[in-house]
Amino acid sequence: MVKKVLDFIFPNFSCLVCGDEINVSAHAHVCNACLNELDLARPSRRTAKSVFGEPGKGKKHPWRHSYTAFLYTGEVVGLVMNFKYSHQGLVAKFAAPILVEQMLCEGAGEYDVVVPVPLAQKRLSERGYNQAELLAEDVVEALAKEQETKVVLLDSILIKTRETEPQVEMATKKRQENQKGAYALVDKDRANELLNGKRVLIVDDVMTSGATLTECARVLKSAGAEVIDIATIARIGS
Ligand SMILES: [Zn+2]
Repeated sequence: MVKKVLDFIFPNFSCLVCGDEINVSAHAHVCNACLNELDLARPSRRTAKSVFGEPGKGKKHPWRHSYTAFLYTGEVVGLVMNFKYSHQGLVAKFAAPILVEQMLCEGAGEYDVVVPVPLAQKRLSERGYNQAELLAEDVVEALAKEQETKVVLLDSILIKTRETEPQVEMATKKRQENQKGAYALVDKDRANELLNGKRVLIVDDVMTSGATLTECARVLKSAGAEVIDIATIARIGS
């Protein structure tokens, strides 16, 4: 009877990594044994300069800091794949609080708006959901618990205008070219109204070369965003 009541209050979860059942009272999505195996990013924060080097004379990188929860290695790879391809929204529920905790530990300030990286329409129809949007919802929820000012999710401000080539085999310069012009503001005036002078956090599942996120940042910056940071579940590299 007690177990039945507990099951009702705390529904049973299977570990998102190994599939084992997790004790109901733990109310977690990854068991402790697996949690210890996941490679936390330490530090979580990187600057645009440390990723891309000096921006070039008279230029500025469009974003300031990127934060990530995990390194894209070991079991994290499977976790992110599940998130991307099998509609495992629980991955976001699990990762968002960890990500936000790391951000705060490493001095991230407050944000006014959170913007998920959009998918191209065709990809969105095939997949049925945008994993970055699911993550952004949970990041907003986690941030709202921690900061004093209101944080707003803007999930219809940016669109992906065309499908880009898979980037895995591309050199950095090529990746940047591949992303150029792939994102746009849905409505420039509205974007200006919503972004001018605002502190923006762009959210995606994985940071690979940073070319996608940088292109999104460039577009949002053009609408007057004051400062732009990036947050992802995992990043490739150290
Ligand atoms: Zn496990």
